[in-house]
Amino acid sequence: MTSAEWDRVKGRLRDEVGDAAYRSWLRPITVRDTGDGSVRLALPTRFMRDWVASHYGERIRALWGAENPDVRTVELVVDAGGAAPAPAPAPHGAPPVMEPPARPAPQAAFALCEVDEIGAPLDPRFTFANFVVGKPNEFAYAAAQRIAEADRVPFNPLFLYSGVGLGKTHLMHAIAWHIREHNPSRRVLYLSAEKFMYRFIRALRDQNTMVFKEQFRSVDVLMIDDVQFIAGKDATQEEFFHTFNSLVDQGRQIVISADKSPSDLEGLEERLRSRLNCGLVADIHPTTYELRLGILQQKAEQMGALVPPKVLEFLAHKISTNVRELEGALNRVAAHAQLVGRAITLESTQEVLHDLLKASDRRISIEEIQKRVAEYFNIKLAEMSSARRSRQVARPRQVAMYLAKQLTSRSLPEIGRKFGGRDHTTVMHAVKKVEELRDIDQNFAEDVELLRRMLQG
Ligand code: ADP
Ligand code: MG
Repeated sequence: MTSAEWDRVKGRLRDEVGDAAYRSWLRPITVRDTGDGSVRLALPTRFMRDWVASHYGERIRALWGAENPDVRTVELVVDAGGAAPAPAPAPHGAPPVMEPPARPAPQAAFALCEVDEIGAPLDPRFTFANFVVGKPNEFAYAAAQRIAEADRVPFNPLFLYSGVGLGKTHLMHAIAWHIREHNPSRRVLYLSAEKFMYRFIRALRDQNTMVFKEQFRSVDVLMIDDVQFIAGKDATQEEFFHTFNSLVDQGRQIVISADKSPSDLEGLEERLRSRLNCGLVADIHPTTYELRLGILQQKAEQMGALVPPKVLEFLAHKISTNVRELEGALNRVAAHAQLVGRAITLESTQEVLHDLLKASDRRISIEEIQKRVAEYFNIKLAEMSSARRSRQVARPRQVAMYLAKQLTSRSLPEIGRKFGGRDHTTVMHAVKKVEELRDIDQNFAEDVELLRRMLQG
């Protein structure tokens, strides 16, 4: 009944505060327990808890009071791991730490307290809904969703691996959020391998490894991020191995991430390696242009920033390392525009990201021009040197020749040769044609200009 009440309160709040604020602050809230005219709501981090308390606390209480007059207090607590099912005290018996609210509470009804964290906080933005799916990550995404939705363990463990900034942590948090929302009685514990190790070391030091074991072996879903961290750390690995086996034997789900596949991870004990290889191993590939563009579009929309499509395309072309850097670049561009109070343009973008773009600046090759131009106009790279003359492929080819002339020091005959052994007069004609078209067709001019900037940085 309480969660139905909360659903209604949430619905009202959503109407009041709007979708974006709702997603960031209110959706992550879980109802922990109730009794005696008091409701307890948990948030994953202290920061979020304080923010929600000061911005929505009173409103939540009022709305809840309207739903159910018996409810007089609403408590907001921090519960990062979600592993300790309230109302039971934290498994190791420590009482929740009571602390005064950050500033004089607007009304006495608020008690803010913190449940000791076992896991790490979950980022409210890292949900399935916020994850843009493309070729490079569709398999990992499907596997993560499967785990989040399954009632019974579909494979064990799920082993996610990729280079940095490609979405492993995002997917793990998404699993946790999903389970929290749809299956709150399942205990999900997410933490980094590093944190696992420090907890283990502390338990050894405090001589309460029994409690430590108990904590980790009583969860339904255990997620350990960046497991490469414990490679070569023998005692921790050993403990992890036992935890792992114990959970698998009990039919509990395990999700692991690392920067390499189990076979390629160095400093891993053989038995652990073979265990890790037993489940589903899914890697996330480096991003493609399309995925980067999709991610940028989504982020720009979420930020409420007006970013011209050309700028998004430019960024997607230029910043191909990983998603984290892509986001960073977009944030910088948007923050700058807001600060100076001007619209985002291609020029301002290049100015703001000057240092970043310079780093990726190199000599431009004809091959690169061909590739970029083909991608841009969505034709096959082979068409750059094919004999086909249909306008659909001939025009992009001419643009590429033009850019080759402009951006490299190659001679006309050299350029001609790179385009399927064409004559230098063909290249000359292409250059002239592009210049003519640029003068009469604004869109075409912009295409060429954008390509030039993308290639030049
Ligand atoms: P990893 O753990 O693999 O190093 P993260 O999960 O921390 O990478 O991702 C880095 C950043 O990129 C995060 O802000 C994350 O939200 C974002 N990100 C990565 N992949 C995607 C995606 N497919 N869609 C949306 N955001 C993504
Ligand atoms: Mg990560």
